[in-house]
Amino acid sequence: MKDIRSLSLPEIEKYFTDIGESKYRAAQVYEWLWEKKVTDIDLMTSLPLSLRERLKNDFALPHLKTEIIQQGSDGTSKIGFRSPDNHIIEGVLIPSGSRMTACISPQAGCALNCSFCATGKLGFKRDLTPLEIFDQVTGLEKLAREMSVKRLSNIVLMGMGEPLLNYDNVCHAVKMISSGKGIGYSPRRIIISTAGITKNIRRIADDRLPVSLAISLHTANNKKRELIMPVTKSNPVTEIADAIKYYHQKTGSRISYEYLLLRDFNDTLSDARELAHFCRISPCKINLIEYNEVEGSPFKRSAPEKTYEFMKFLQSRNLVVNLRKSRGADIDAACGQLAGKHKTV
Ligand code: SF4
Repeated sequence: MKDIRSLSLPEIEKYFTDIGESKYRAAQVYEWLWEKKVTDIDLMTSLPLSLRERLKNDFALPHLKTEIIQQGSDGTSKIGFRSPDNHIIEGVLIPSGSRMTACISPQAGCALNCSFCATGKLGFKRDLTPLEIFDQVTGLEKLAREMSVKRLSNIVLMGMGEPLLNYDNVCHAVKMISSGKGIGYSPRRIIISTAGITKNIRRIADDRLPVSLAISLHTANNKKRELIMPVTKSNPVTEIADAIKYYHQKTGSRISYEYLLLRDFNDTLSDARELAHFCRISPCKINLIEYNEVEGSPFKRSAPEKTYEFMKFLQSRNLVVNLRKSRGADIDAACGQLAGKHKTV
């Protein structure tokens, strides 16, 4: 059955005209769907009961259901959404001062199999639809409001899956999240974080998608990167650098790099030197991330003194560096840890 939210207002108007109903019913339905964001046709109480029954016969209104909420001692919340076909999709709310960042997923599972990541171990299940990506944002926004946060400060597509391998649906979702019909959220505050799918980094620039872009780099050394991120074999570091150059030339935007510090693997001064050299391509910001250790992964978190030295080195090269403390370690906040523990298809 067709999802009623996939219809435009003129399409809903046509439906009502075709069944001999007044056109104004379409505006009512549209308001229930997009302003009141109801999840059940029965809740459209301004429609007569008979009309609601007719709609239920003709359309579905599937939603992701918020099923698991785990609250960490540091305020981080991990949310497990269940899809109608029984996948667990992970979202995270990360508070920081008056800000609240929402991390959402573009796919159920992931095909890229990075060796430090729990989602990679689950394998790829399927792409999420634009509405499923959108539902994560509305679900997390509702929870944030319940925690007295007025608005999400950033939305990061960085949870389960690779956003640039679900390009069309992610673009559609970004439009919905940023349109007045959806949530009216500034696209600049939506961050797409990719493992480095070069073809689609260029496409973002060509399509002028007005989002912010982050690359999960984790090392600027191609050989090392191949060991932890198999996607590097088809998207080598040099090609990622070329795609970033292209992106910067076309958009003028600064890029962010995510860099997980893994003990004795990518946290030496020689790694920092390689990273600093790579960062010469274009203006950038580096987010160093403390690793949330994952069961079955050979990696450990970098020692605090190594982390500090690494950061100081980059700063001495005039690079903008943030250190992101590990969040939600007590609630399986590393991507894929929650889904791995709950029954799915
Ligand atoms: S880190 Fe990201 S790209 Fe790599 S396996 Fe995990 S979800 Fe996929």
